[in-house]
Amino acid sequence: MLNITDLNIAYKKTQVVRDLSLHVAPGEIVGIVGESGSGKSTLIRSILGLLGSGGKVLSGQIVFEGREIQNLKKEPMRKIRGKEIAIVFQQPERSFDPTYRIENQFYESMRVHGDISKEDARERAEELLLELNLPQPEQILKAYPFELSGGMCQRVAIAVAMAHNPRLLLADEPTSALDVTVQAQVVQVMMDLREKFDTSILIVTHNMGVVAYMADMVGVM
Ligand code: ADP
Ligand code: MG
Repeated sequence: MLNITDLNIAYKKTQVVRDLSLHVAPGEIVGIVGESGSGKSTLIRSILGLLGSGGKVLSGQIVFEGREIQNLKKEPMRKIRGKEIAIVFQQPERSFDPTYRIENQFYESMRVHGDISKEDARERAEELLLELNLPQPEQILKAYPFELSGGMCQRVAIAVAMAHNPRLLLADEPTSALDVTVQAQVVQVMMDLREKFDTSILIVTHNMGVVAYMADMVGVM
């Protein structure tokens, strides 16, 4: 599903990822561990063309379902982002607009990739929350992000990321900002979505417990 070969990435003149290769099979969970500063977030962001103005893929291939995507222009990449490959970050609040209720976050995310009514978006959102075993979906949909606990916020961010049923989910330290007690719930949501939707997951974490529990394969940077 995802095949990365001999990837080299630099910010300006500083190379931060060197000759990296990995692959993720359909339905597989691949973990990436490594010291702070080893380029894990850079790797994850490069897959979706999110390196920013200073960052550049110098060489190598990122092949997603048979298509080379490392040099895609903005528009074709925008079609993949969120729809075929989704991403969640360490700080769940970063996934949300603080002024929107959760139901609107779902709606905004869904309408990026096609016409959908608010009612249909709401229905799909409720369905997703139920499928991922989040309690009281109606209350969640009415809430603002700041009204949710950190753990709940991340579980909802993962549900929003699943709005288009992407085949690959990228997760950059999704549990690192959370209390240990709620980390397991976030891990469970990711395990549930692999189980239910056969989503592949590429997860960066420094938590060896999370990697041991979740990952089929582990790479060290
Ligand atoms: P990790 O996620 O493993 O902690 P990062 O990918 O965030 O590592 O960073 C890898 C290296 O690239 C670090 O040395 C970091 O300082 C540098 N870096 C990250 N983002 C940028 C950026 N936008 N501009 C310049 N350097 C960056
Ligand atoms: Mg990082």
